Amino acid sequence: MSNDLVIKDLRVNVADKEILKGLNLTIKQGTIHAVMGPNGSGKSTLAYTIAGHPNYEVTGGEIWYKGENILELEADERSRLGLFLAFQYPVSVPGVSVANFLRAAVNAHRAEEGKDAKQTAIPIAQYRKLLRENMASLQMDDTFARRYLNEGFSGGEKKRLEILQMSVLKPQMAVMDETDSGLDIDALRIVSDGVNKIFTPEMGVLVITHYQRLLNYIKPHVVSVMMEGQIVREGGPELALELEDKGYDWIREEVFGNAS
Ligand code: ADP
Ligand code: MG
Repeated sequence: MSNDLVIKDLRVNVADKEILKGLNLTIKQGTIHAVMGPNGSGKSTLAYTIAGHPNYEVTGGEIWYKGENILELEADERSRLGLFLAFQYPVSVPGVSVANFLRAAVNAHRAEEGKDAKQTAIPIAQYRKLLRENMASLQMDDTFARRYLNEGFSGGEKKRLEILQMSVLKPQMAVMDETDSGLDIDALRIVSDGVNKIFTPEMGVLVITHYQRLLNYIKPHVVSVMMEGQIVREGGPELALELEDKGYDWIREEVFGNAS
């Protein structure tokens, strides 16, 4: 059974307007795959659709993962299949510490139908050890675990939480949408160092970004270009460099025949 994420002819409406227009994309296990594209091309729409966000209405196509069309699964079922969607979590949950939030996420993964949550929950000592080891490996300070979730988090700290969550949950397919225009170099480093550290050949990672800069730190194996709701080019890391150099208009011209 393949652990690739396979998107076939995906069509998605947002507010009754078609944004994804028959998108085809395969994220292979063992690869870091970057999707780049100009603003408004539909990158975040793709990320939210994979996450199962209710505002994104799928009108056609399929997304296959581990033998299931995940479009038929609830968001938590997608997560338990091993998909990690960094941005789907609440912006701010007052009164919940990072440590408790991550424990809840771990336990949600361990939950089994017909079993009491107490039976499947991770023993507290084991969880502490898991958290400590992952934080040490990511060189994060212990005090971070005691912080309240996203309360006054800087862009960098939000990214740190995302990376720590990924490290603890060990997803097999991670989708990251680097939308935040406020991301400074520090935050970019946290994301890229984290991804480089967590990545294994058993994993796939989809990094969605319009920042060529991010790809200076994360080395993608494959780069796809998205434009007007479709994937219009695919190449290796050199494609990202070419885009930095020449922008997107030359591709637009080749694909759509004008440089508007
Ligand atoms: P990208 O992430 O590539 O910048 P988006 O997926 O955010 O692109 O947006 C693609 C298109 O969908 C844009 O034209 C945008 O205006 C539109 N869009 C996105 N979200 C909404 C929304 N919630 N309501 C209406 N239009 C939206
Ligand atoms: Mg976006």
